[in-house]
Amino acid sequence: MARHHPDNRPLARTGLGLALWSALVAMPSAMAQSTDLSACMAELRPAARSAGVHDATWSRHTAGLQADFSVIEKLNFQPEFRTAIWDYMSALVDDERVADGLARLAEHRQVLERAEQRFGVDPATVVAVWGVESNFGQTFGKYPLVQALGTLSCHGRRQNFFRGEFLAALRILQAGHIPPDRLLGSWAGAFGHTQFMPTTFERLAVDFDGDGRADLMDSAVDALGSTAHFLARAGWQRGLPWGIEVKLPAGIALAGEGRRTKRPVADWMARGVRRTDGSALPESLGSTGLLTLAGPKGPAFLVTRNFDALYSYNAAESYGLAIAHLSDRLRGAGPFVTPWPTDDPGLSRAQRRELQGLLVMRGHEIGPVDGMLGEKSRQAIRLEQQRLGHEANGRGGQKILQALRGG
Ligand code: CA
Repeated sequence: MARHHPDNRPLARTGLGLALWSALVAMPSAMAQSTDLSACMAELRPAARSAGVHDATWSRHTAGLQADFSVIEKLNFQPEFRTAIWDYMSALVDDERVADGLARLAEHRQVLERAEQRFGVDPATVVAVWGVESNFGQTFGKYPLVQALGTLSCHGRRQNFFRGEFLAALRILQAGHIPPDRLLGSWAGAFGHTQFMPTTFERLAVDFDGDGRADLMDSAVDALGSTAHFLARAGWQRGLPWGIEVKLPAGIALAGEGRRTKRPVADWMARGVRRTDGSALPESLGSTGLLTLAGPKGPAFLVTRNFDALYSYNAAESYGLAIAHLSDRLRGAGPFVTPWPTDDPGLSRAQRRELQGLLVMRGHEIGPVDGMLGEKSRQAIRLEQQRLGHEANGRGGQKILQALRGG
């Protein structure tokens, strides 16, 4: 909270040294960054009461709560460049994730069949969401949720939105679904196997293992049931595919087409759209939109309303396509038939780790070899690209990997 600091000229006349003077003039911004949330929490308390947060819950979780300004930095972060769709897809849907997904399908077959009976969503789709959301329960985020959402409720943009999530998180703890020390998640408040926001949890989480709690942190069974429930409520239609990859005729007009512009199969047939092997489109698709995420030369898809249900999970078409494609791969399908329109395709996570290993061998300090190409890895890539006479963009693709493999 920005407070105007009292005029400090009188202090200057007392002959204080320069260092102390600097410290004094720096005070207003230091005050604005106080981690003390007590004044803001006091303001929020009446709203919390009327939102069903009991006094005991409130005191237990908000007494002494300190802001974590790293979440505000995340909120304000502007990426220096947009991740290309082929980089995004090659890391999210790689052989490793397909193998892990097949193992999870086998492990949870009975639960997934029960979820399909009850909610109408097939096992491969549910497991694909799980794989993309949390790498099958391996990546949950490390932020204590009450602290992150408390900070976002009092600082930064969208405080009203985050206040609703903050109060929902407190009600989840109050109801005993999740132990307080286990409620960790992303900086923005998504948590657990399926990365639900707290209000999404309250609407849609189910106790699918029957222990009386919906525990999306420590029960994969509850998480799988909750994901199926989410998609069912988002309009998932039992037995309908999400869509198919198609081949577009040369020169097809894409203006005005998209996921939302649904047309009957006969219309697409008349415009020359075919399956990737050139055969007729299946009538069973019903009404579909045309999705192209890399222009007319890249892979193209006809997508049904079930794709819209996947989209609603995270409101991004690239995200929906990653889940859709992973679900197809789990059903035995191969990669897309049409390659992405690039001469430098993306890397799988195994290839990213290999690239990082090659950078380390060349003496670069990049931190852990974890398959995540962060700022240190990108800087090392930039230096190697400069040395090789490539465009120094810091991007890890097949070109730099091949070049470094060759020495
Ligand atoms: Ca449970």
